[in-house]
Amino acid sequence: MIEQDKVVEPEKISCEVCFKEIPISEATSVRATDYIMYYCGLECYDKWKKQKEERGSERRRGSERRRGSKNGTPNP
Ligand SMILES: [Zn+2]
Repeated sequence: MIEQDKVVEPEKISCEVCFKEIPISEATSVRATDYIMYYCGLECYDKWKKQKEERGSERRRGSERRRGSKNGTPNP
């Protein structure tokens, strides 16, 4: 008998940014609030980080709208 079942496939994940498949051992991982995210490299991690920061500042701008127009609409 020959044991031929010894091929261990490396676990693969896909990059959070470019969705490229990479072996988990080569991935850059970042632990977020609830789960771990993987990147094929620091380049993608950087991209993701920038995206997140941009989104964050957008949110801040969004909460700044309190210009109520409840006072100037006369009925025809
Ligand atoms: Zn990537």
